[in-house]
Amino acid sequence: MNDLLKPFSLEGRVALVTGASSGFGRHFAALLSRAGAKVVVAARRTDLIQKEANKINASGGQAMAVTMDVTSSSSIAAALDEVEKEFGVVTVVINNAGITIPKLLLDLSDDDWNNVIDTNLNGVAFVARETARRMIAAETGGSIVNIASILAERVQKALTSYAASKAAVVQFTKTAALEFAQHNIRVNALCPGYFQTELNGEWFKTQEGQALIKRIPQRRTGTLEELNGPLLLLASDAGSLMTGSAVIVDGGHVLSDL
Ligand code: NDP
Repeated sequence: MNDLLKPFSLEGRVALVTGASSGFGRHFAALLSRAGAKVVVAARRTDLIQKEANKINASGGQAMAVTMDVTSSSSIAAALDEVEKEFGVVTVVINNAGITIPKLLLDLSDDDWNNVIDTNLNGVAFVARETARRMIAAETGGSIVNIASILAERVQKALTSYAASKAAVVQFTKTAALEFAQHNIRVNALCPGYFQTELNGEWFKTQEGQALIKRIPQRRTGTLEELNGPLLLLASDAGSLMTGSAVIVDGGHVLSDL
């Protein structure tokens, strides 16, 4: 490997990806494996994460699936106990699990609000807290990457709970970075803009979708591969002086004219 690229390697690390049963998380798990990490594929749908772990193992990587509900501290602790028996202490954490319940505030129930905050904010905090406790006990140091969104900065109707949760994730990231720096644990946020996945690909072909794309300065949505560099930078030693940052990857979307 070119010397310049060596700091991006995750050889010898154990990397946890939450929400790895679909979308970004599935992509991140395969990416971290390609970068050399042993990967822990976590989510609630055990059949899907097992399939992902099998795929990574079949392609020469090392992965294990653990069922985890990020809204439950006991579920997180039990999953990490399982991981430590097989792979050891997790030192790279991708806090990716997230949901959206797109409804206007006037139509939003208490349960809708709480579900989004429980998953997107409390989940990030609980996973960061438990993994950091274990890194500190093992004196390993590590890197935590929280997947926020450009909705942490800009707004869109019908996404009050989501936008509030993601803005809180960015501020949580900075505070946790401040607390954990003494333990050699970095905490950063990645703020993706709009990406075409199997979930929204058809919508982007509609008139509304096309209009949205026109408002992005680069006039296009992202591809998952365009998150590879930013994610690896934050996860690996290549970003060793970065902590408390919120890295925007959005084709300039947040810069669009007001
Ligand atoms: P998906 O809906 O494809 O995936 C969400 C993942 O979160 C699933 O794997 C789901 O797994 C998991 N999840 C949900 N609730 C829980 C829970 N309580 N415990 C554990 N896992 C949970 O979404 P995306 O891949 O699109 O989004 C991933 C992240 O990226 C989210 O945080 C999202 O906010 C963020 N993001 C996405 C953008 C996009 O354009 N797609 C843009 C900006 C940010 P399971 O149901 O099996 O538990």
